[in-house]
Amino acid sequence: MALGEFELIRRFFDRPTAHAGVVHGVGDDCAVLAPSPGHQWLVSTDMLVEGRHFLSTVDPEALGHKALAVNLSDLAACGATPRAVFLALALPRADAAWLEAFARGLFQLADAHGVALAGGDTTAGPLNLCITAMGEAPAGQALLRSGAQPGDTLWVSGTLGDARLALEAFRGTVALTGEAFAATRLRMERPTPRVALGQALRGLATSAVDVSDGLLGDLAHVLAASDVGAELQADALPRGAHLAAQPLDLQRLCTLTGGDDYELVFTAPADGDDAVRAAAARSDTPVTRIGRITAEPGLSCVDAQGQPVPAPGASFDHFRNP
Ligand code: ADP
Ligand code: MG
Repeated sequence: MALGEFELIRRFFDRPTAHAGVVHGVGDDCAVLAPSPGHQWLVSTDMLVEGRHFLSTVDPEALGHKALAVNLSDLAACGATPRAVFLALALPRADAAWLEAFARGLFQLADAHGVALAGGDTTAGPLNLCITAMGEAPAGQALLRSGAQPGDTLWVSGTLGDARLALEAFRGTVALTGEAFAATRLRMERPTPRVALGQALRGLATSAVDVSDGLLGDLAHVLAASDVGAELQADALPRGAHLAAQPLDLQRLCTLTGGDDYELVFTAPADGDDAVRAAAARSDTPVTRIGRITAEPGLSCVDAQGQPVPAPGASFDHFRNP
């Protein structure tokens, strides 16, 4: 017999929740949440649309992971401790095997971060997922895009560009070895949200953003919000071994404009290098210093000799890159 709406919710999305901050989860008209004393809620929503953010052929387990990961990455960028997520799901049909795999990918990551699926909505329709994530931070300590100051140092976590390299391989514009393709594809399909680093940067970073659309574009948001400029060391951008084996032009394209990396880019006071490295060690997350904030507006990219590097086009924009 076909799986009904409520059976589907019960079977795949209603799990016992004994999570901090979640008083009542799935099953009522509203979830009931309680922030820790002295904390504020930080809330983010991300939508994933078939044919735009993922292909119909995507592995549902990877999709469950990524749908949650991109939301946790937004919480990470603001320094939030994740508490609860909500899932609005439109499905062309109730396919038990698909739902089982999707839920597995989602709950594996949710469990790893101690976050509850506290509610949602389920409807028939073209495949579309929308996740709302709620986290908390001590009042006034959320990391914002607007706090960068001239003289601050500029940092990024992990490595940049692997997701874009995998995308180029999918598109057939670069040929990768089997091993390189598998490794970079994993970065594209199973990004790691930098949740622990975001929390460790509270009270230290002056601004932060996660790299979802490409470093140049996402950094530009910080510069605009903070009314500052930046000098970026293009060749200091951390990249994995597979990308480092590619021609320099492609490396720059991937590291500067590649989306989907979900690394954190953040700024810190000039005398804060030791504190940043301590926060990185505490959260077990590599970080690299990649430039500095300037009073003059605009973003300049320079190579190791300080010579200007031409910026390889803009980063992704849904209405400009249809
Ligand atoms: P209502 O009709 O009152 O809006 P629903 O019938 O849509 O409620 O949902 C019933 C319960 O199941 C609610 O608690 C809702 O939050 C939860 N829910 C619905 N869809 C999902 C989903 N995909 N994931 C998690 N919880 C869900
Ligand atoms: Mg209702």
